[in-house]
Amino acid sequence: MLDDAAFGAATPVKPKAISPTDPAARFTGANGDRPFFAYSTNYLVDLDNAIIVDVEATVPIRQAEVGAVRNMLTRTRDRFDLHPERLAADTAYGTAEMLGWLVDDQEIEPHIPVFDKSERKDGAYPATDFAYDEDADEYRCPGGRALKPYWRDISKGRPEFGKDGCKKYYARKQDCAACALKPHCTPNQATRKISRSRYEHARQKAREIAKTDAYVASEYARKKVEMLFAHLKRILGLDRLRLRGPNGAKDEFHIAATVQNLRKLAKLRPSVA
Ligand code: SF4
Repeated sequence: MLDDAAFGAATPVKPKAISPTDPAARFTGANGDRPFFAYSTNYLVDLDNAIIVDVEATVPIRQAEVGAVRNMLTRTRDRFDLHPERLAADTAYGTAEMLGWLVDDQEIEPHIPVFDKSERKDGAYPATDFAYDEDADEYRCPGGRALKPYWRDISKGRPEFGKDGCKKYYARKQDCAACALKPHCTPNQATRKISRSRYEHARQKAREIAKTDAYVASEYARKKVEMLFAHLKRILGLDRLRLRGPNGAKDEFHIAATVQNLRKLAKLRPSVA
């Protein structure tokens, strides 16, 4: 289990600190509190009634938590034939791969903010200011010039996408050199470059959904999930695990989720006259 993607194999990064009493737990300061060794409980929640449909224990690392959502969606479909039309989640779940998997493989609408690392910190035009032309497979910059993957025919034998899953588009050096917009576009490089994910269509879909009223409703409904976690700590007192190791975390998280569901179901039961 320690080699599981939810635990020891969640990331190749060597932990800076290892707990002497529970080596599988991971040190985290994620909630802005004093750092401590922890596991994460991940819920798949039916937002209509705030019922927990599935639960999975992981280490508190984004890759492991994203993997847990995939596992829970697959398991829920296999076991209960439940397949959501949409998934509401926070930015941590808005990676290109996750959005691609949801849109292409699962046909689930991502009501998730896009995780975007392309934001420029130097105030230069963001990638969204460049218009993509699908037929020509090129971008147009704010100065009206083209950005292409190759300006000479040197593409033979090169993979279309890099190891990061992105295709790169380059402006021509002479276009940028003669451009009055250069200080606002590529102040420190000779040419401007744009990266396009192989899942850009799914990212774009998520961006469009984010402008809809349905997305606002999903954002609001997601507060029910936050309430469940707050309830877990403050009312059920699960701010500390009693059992050690991944199996201990798994058992405690399952029991806690069951208790939360029973309380909820008791309230949902129609009152007898
Ligand atoms: S600097 Fe280059 S990419 Fe940027 S607007 Fe000018 S020509 Fe276009």
